[in-house]
Amino acid sequence: MLGYEGVSALMTTTRASLGRARDIIDEYLAQGFSSIFLRSLSPYGFAIKTKTYAAYDTGEWLKFYFEGLRYIVELNRSGRPFVESYAAMILTKMLTPFETGYVDLMSPAGIGISAVVYNYDGDVYASDESRMLAEMGDKTFCMGNLHERTYEELFGSDALLTPLEASFAASVPMCNDCAFEPYCGADPVYHYATQGDFVGRKPLSGFCEKNMAIFRTLIGMMEEDPETKRLFRRWAAR
Ligand code: SF4
Repeated sequence: MLGYEGVSALMTTTRASLGRARDIIDEYLAQGFSSIFLRSLSPYGFAIKTKTYAAYDTGEWLKFYFEGLRYIVELNRSGRPFVESYAAMILTKMLTPFETGYVDLMSPAGIGISAVVYNYDGDVYASDESRMLAEMGDKTFCMGNLHERTYEELFGSDALLTPLEASFAASVPMCNDCAFEPYCGADPVYHYATQGDFVGRKPLSGFCEKNMAIFRTLIGMMEEDPETKRLFRRWAAR
């Protein structure tokens, strides 16, 4: 869709953003947006090349995220409808029977299933993060080149099927007895980029730390306050 309603702004947290969650959200409101996706830096491409990925750790980002989330809840209470999109996606998984199709929170992983990226040179990647990894010289998730391979060969390639096979969260150590597993995912590209392994050791995983904290906090906020619970139900039903 084109036009005023068809424009979105992709937010990424830099070191300078920490402590300014309210300012960023206020700017989104001032520009007429009705939602924001508070995103942390990813360990690929530009963020690694410029060394900005190491600018803060998961704990610092979570502090920023929860400050923003609580501010958005306050805004809604004062009559300004506004949504935090990552929370809304998780709440959809928690409170409805629907799948969001968000690649990072799927089990098996959403790479090559919910996403596929065709690069300018014909190389096909299982996700945009896989392509960013290739820009750093690592083509582990390259499914092949469309000038050389058939559709069946691309989607049946080991580059896709091996990480997919390792991405069933229910059979992964720690995830297999985690209460949040139905809401979580696997993200083999993230774990490969940070730990050199498709599964990754979850006690050392920023993905696990971030999502577990968000799951716990969303549930806690709903338990603490019936009005927040009603708001979160509305976000889930969007
Ligand atoms: S929160 Fe951590 S342990 Fe639980 S399912 Fe997600 S990644 Fe696995």
